[in-house]
Amino acid sequence: MNKQYQSVDDAQAQTTLPEAAAKCSVVLEVHGSGRQIRLDCPFSCPGDHAGKRELSVDTGNPQKVFACHAYQCQMRGNLLTLMHGWLTGTRPTGDKLKGEEFKRVRGVLLGDSPSPAGGPVPSSVAKSAELKTLPARNVPLAQSENEKARELVTLDEKFLRDVAHMPPTAASYVRRHVCLTTAMMEKWRVGVLPQDGGPDKRGWSLRGQVLYPILGEDGKLLAWAARDPQFETKEQAFNALRPDERAKEKKPAKHRFPVDFHRGQELFGQHAGRLVEPGFREVIAECGILVVEGFNDVLGLDGIGVPAVAIMSNKITEQQVSKIERFAKNLGGGKVTLLFDNDDAGDDGAKESLWLLGQRGLDVRLGWSRAMHGGKFAGRQPENLTGDEWEKAIRPGIVRQ
Ligand SMILES: [Zn+2]
Repeated sequence: MNKQYQSVDDAQAQTTLPEAAAKCSVVLEVHGSGRQIRLDCPFSCPGDHAGKRELSVDTGNPQKVFACHAYQCQMRGNLLTLMHGWLTGTRPTGDKLKGEEFKRVRGVLLGDSPSPAGGPVPSSVAKSAELKTLPARNVPLAQSENEKARELVTLDEKFLRDVAHMPPTAASYVRRHVCLTTAMMEKWRVGVLPQDGGPDKRGWSLRGQVLYPILGEDGKLLAWAARDPQFETKEQAFNALRPDERAKEKKPAKHRFPVDFHRGQELFGQHAGRLVEPGFREVIAECGILVVEGFNDVLGLDGIGVPAVAIMSNKITEQQVSKIERFAKNLGGGKVTLLFDNDDAGDDGAKESLWLLGQRGLDVRLGWSRAMHGGKFAGRQPENLTGDEWEKAIRPGIVRQ
């Protein structure tokens, strides 16, 4: 995309709505067709919820003027202003895009921070000038159409956090993971679902599992992820089977997510409310967005005052790359630091992530590897990093300013 524009007005006129969305790493969920297109309002809109799509865009207008029809919002503006909403989730200061805010969005529109170098914008968004309805994003449980799902919003009322009362396998799992203190489990709404919940049958299929809440960026609960505390035992038994027996058995799963949940669109620990924690913004400004693999890694690092987000796997997705890119540009001066597990699977995941994030023009660094730091972190996972190790070994290697 090396179009030369005479002006911002030309650029707005020649950029389609899906192209503009792609520049902001947003996947458009569009309703309506023809000139008036209806979208979810991105300006932390008090009136637009549960798919009301209160914002309408006049795509026939060269500046693609829009207005939000929610009574409490009524935000209006041109394509640049809409892009500001997509990039920040907030209204421009004083409701008018000017100064630094204007320059930043203009830079994105004119391609200062393009999506993959020379490559296309995400094909799902930009394939045609015609707007399409794209796969639904994750809906907060509280807004689910499914009553059973809505009932899970307060599932943590039932959680066990005292190892003395947990089923033995869950208790043993919690004891092995030092980050899972009662206080941290309370803070993070993590816990074990009892085997016998009495008449309360909510989350029945998850009993005995360690549950982690996946929150949206706005802090709303999207799903409960379940960690099977017996996974390691089940995996050993599975691997011990003869190949013909193994073919008949289902491979044990470490984690379970709801079937309609799109894990790859979220990062564990992504909720913006965390930014008020002391020192978090400073660490991100110095070291960039810290990316880890798992739930416990986020908790363990949080416990020593280090903000991290987890991809909930060792394999990053394109949507996660886009989200990290957005976070890094907004908060971390374009910097990212990877702290994957120091084992074979972690190495594979980190190599792929380095490439994908590097392609976005981000300043990506490894916090550690099995060879770095004289090999002293080989075999380690971030969840067990001590505050001393962070301050003396890891942090000095990833600070850049
Ligand atoms: Zn609105």
